[in-house]
Amino acid sequence: MKTHYDFIIIGSGAGGGTIAYTLAGSGKSILILERGSFLPQEKENWDTIAVFDKERYHTKEVWKDKDGKDLHPGTGYWVGGNTKVYGAALFRLRERDFEEIQHVGGISPSWPLSYSDLEPYYAKAERLYDVHGKSGVDPT
Ligand SMILES: Cc1cc2nc3c(=O)[nH]c(=O)nc-3n(C[C@H](O)[C@H](O)[C@H](O)COP(=O)(O)OP(=O)(O)OC[C@H]3O[C@@H](n4cnc5c(N)ncnc54)[C@H](O)[C@@H]3O)c2cc1C
Repeated sequence: MKTHYDFIIIGSGAGGGTIAYTLAGSGKSILILERGSFLPQEKENWDTIAVFDKERYHTKEVWKDKDGKDLHPGTGYWVGGNTKVYGAALFRLRERDFEEIQHVGGISPSWPLSYSDLEPYYAKAERLYDVHGKSGVDPT
């Protein structure tokens, strides 16, 4: 078995999948590691109650928050990741979201990147994922 790769991508959701897509034509050797198995294809895949309310595809793992209290992570491990059941609403953060923001519970520090640093990548991703529609206009 091959043990050396130019790139190793961990996770096969939108993040890992997008990187794999971008690198696919590079001629480099790429390994994608995915801890999950295949999501069963069943009618509940399209059932919002099963997906959102009943968390059918989420892990039953219990994590701990910073105070040691139980936390249900609301995440799943599947080939294709949570992206298999996501809502396909792809928003951009706003320019001011990258700046320091005072919230009721404290300060969210500014990012080391600005909106303009990411804008070309937003544009590229939106082309890849066929993001479309106009603010305030019902797409139906
Ligand atoms: C029901 C639902 C609806 C959502 N709707 C939206 C939406 O409309 N718009 C939106 O922007 N976001 C939405 N989200 C959030 C959404 O899941 C993310 O935006 C997007 O799918 C995240 O992609 P990702 O690649 O970062 O993570 P994921 O798609 O979760 O992929 C991560 C992958 O990494 C794998 N992995 C984790 N740890 C390891 C490890 N140690 N080794 C190997 N593999 C590992 C996981 O199994 C998984 O396959 C939704 C989430 C859920 C659950």
